[in-house]
Order: sequence, then C-alpha cells, then structure tokens
Amino acid sequence: MFENVKAIPGDALLALMMEFKKDPTPAKIDLGVGVYKDDAGLTPILPAVKKAEALILENEQSKGYIGPAGAPELAPLLQSLMLGDQHNLIREKRIATTQTPGGTGALRVAGDLINALNPNAKIWVSDPTWSNHFHVFAGAGIEVRTYPYYDAQQNALAFENMLAAIHEIPSGDVILLHASCHNPTGIDPTLEQWQQISDLVAERALLPLIDCAYQGFGDGLEEDVQGLKLILEKSPEALITTSCSKNFGLYNERIGALSVVAAEPEHCNNVFSQACNCIRANYSNPPAHGAAIVTTILSDQALRQQWETELSEMRTRIHRMRTELVKNLSALSDERDFSFIAAQKGMFSYSGLSRDEVKYLKDKYAIYAVDSGRINIAGINDGNLGRLSQAIAEAID
Ligand code: PMP
Repeated sequence: MFENVKAIPGDALLALMMEFKKDPTPAKIDLGVGVYKDDAGLTPILPAVKKAEALILENEQSKGYIGPAGAPELAPLLQSLMLGDQHNLIREKRIATTQTPGGTGALRVAGDLINALNPNAKIWVSDPTWSNHFHVFAGAGIEVRTYPYYDAQQNALAFENMLAAIHEIPSGDVILLHASCHNPTGIDPTLEQWQQISDLVAERALLPLIDCAYQGFGDGLEEDVQGLKLILEKSPEALITTSCSKNFGLYNERIGALSVVAAEPEHCNNVFSQACNCIRANYSNPPAHGAAIVTTILSDQALRQQWETELSEMRTRIHRMRTELVKNLSALSDERDFSFIAAQKGMFSYSGLSRDEVKYLKDKYAIYAVDSGRINIAGINDGNLGRLSQAIAEAID
C-alpha cells in the first residue's frame, strides 16, 4: 500500500516557520505564524491561566473521560461569553454547545455534521480565507466554493461584490463568516454592512457558520460579536465555531467549541445529538485540561476580571503597533498610503506588499511574512519596529 505513495508538499506557513528558526540573523523578525507575541517577542502563558492551572492541579480528582460533548460546565460559560447571560437563544434553549479540540476541531465536527445532514450542501468561504478552511471541509467531504471579500486596489472589503455573490448562493448551502478579526485580511464588515449581510443570508435561507476565533482581539469582547449577534437575530438556524486558542493563549491545549442554534429546542437537541455522534466517530472524547482552565477562569469573578485585563493588554498592544507602523511608514516614505493598516482588526493585516516585496524583506532583512503580504502585527514590537519600517520603506521604493 505504501510503496508508490507520493509525499504531499508541506504547509507553506510551517515551511516558513522552519526557515525562520534556522536563520542565524540576530535581528530576524517573524511576521508569519499566527500566534500572539508580547513586546519581548514571546508567546507567554497568561498569568490568569497559570493561576487557574494551580487551582486545577490542587483540586483535580480524576482523569476519567469527560464524554463526547466535553465538560458540561463549559457550555453555558462559553454561551454567555459570546451572547451575554440574558440572550433569548439561551433562555429559549435554542442553543447547544459541545466542547471540541480547538477551533479547528469545531470546524471539522461542523463539516462532518453538515455532511451527515445534507451531503449535497456546499460551503461558501470568503476569498481569501484561513487556508485550513479548505482542508478541513474537503476532509469532511464537503465541496468548498468562494465568495469575493477583498478589494486589492482599495485594501478594503469588496462589499458590493460580496453581496452580489451571496445573492446567487443556492438556498440551503452553508456560508462561512468570520465573526471578527478576519484571517488573513484583518478587514471586518462595519455594523451597517453586517446588517445587510444578515438580511441577505436570512433572505436566501443560507445556513450561517460563524467562525469565532478571535473574540476580544479586535475592539473588545462584546464589540467583536456584534455581527455574529445580528446574524443570529435574523437566521433561525446557525452553527458557531469558537476557538479559545488566541483569547486565552491556549494554543497547544486544543480548546474550542461548536454551538448549534435551531428554531426549536427539540430541533436543537436532535442536531446536537448528531454532532455528538460525529465526535464519537472521530476522536470520541475531547482533551480535558484546556476546558478546565477556561471553566475555572470564567466561573471565578476575580480570575475572570484578571483575564479580561490581560486580554485587553494584548488587544491594546496590537492596536498600538498598527498605529506606530503606519506613523513610521508615512514619515519614511510617501510612495504608498498605509493608513488602512491602522483600521484593520485583530492580529493580521493584508499589508498590500507584493510577493516580490515580501521576498525582498526576507532576503535582505530576514523579515519573514507570508507571500500574500499577510503580516502578523503581533510580531512587531518596540525593539524591531524601526528596522521593519526602514525595510518596508526600502522594499516599496
Ligand atoms: N479559524 C480561524 C479564522 C483561525 O484563524 C484559526 C487559527 N488560526 C482557527 C479557526 C483555528 O483555531 P485553533 O487553533 O483553535 O484550532
């Protein structure tokens, strides 16, 4: 069986990470991989997480299985973090949430679920989108199509084209929307645009799948789910995938969730049981530790407050780096207007840098970014900002 198997080319981003690791240049800068870094260039464990882990270590009684749907205490905490305690979906028992291994695990369970419920449904993702969306849904046997999202001339949302394309999506198909901090562009719809998107998605009777991987990284915990809430106001059915990797800094713990929203509690329970069935056939039970951390933090008032402060520090640092970069670039060069970078949300920015300019940065300055020109703003800090700004000004000259 193995003799004639051909190797699949590795993931381009992972290859870039490896190249960065091997690069001996002391002043090298990594703007590639999508993890948060602090001003010292490190991806630290949040102090609130450390405290929660100490409590868990002390109190944990068993390593028994936690069941396909995961820790029962986690679901209501994640629901109210996303929607607020008083949301009608929670009161009316029209939302059910299962823990998953990261946001990716949630997307894969969502894919398996869609395939189980309607194998003919296609899923429509933004062009561009997080590249793993294609792999995950193809792995679940679902056909993936794209709708326009990015206007390269304006470095903005291609809103009219996006709406026109959504209008043509067949009813019953699935549309994936990023709740906030769109990966890779950093461009989110405004609230008015979300209004129009949510009207159209409901009018076309599409099933919204909202990928919520960066709550709290854009404008704030509540602000970052306003678009998501508008969608849920208008569409009676939806799927939501949550990742706790970024906002809790729990990348390697693999903690996320899939929520099912339905018109009736009974439909919700039925679909939820199907999701649990997909989980059983896949990994049976999720890992426990990440869920224990998130549960401990969200259910303890002081820890929760501390986490919110630490999250806002990450968010504020990213904002500051965006504005500092724009300020530096406009002082160094009048070749190009980079002010759009300051308006983008979350860790990522489609910088508008061409493939050749990205290559120039790597070859001449050991500055690593993705070919598309996507840069991770969290890779910028006070120590490397000057060198980076000089290098970009030179690359575009
Ligand atoms: N969705 C998007 C848009 C993402 O950017 C990511 C992480 N890069 C994920 C989902 C998956 O997150 P996780 O690491 O929790 O699997």
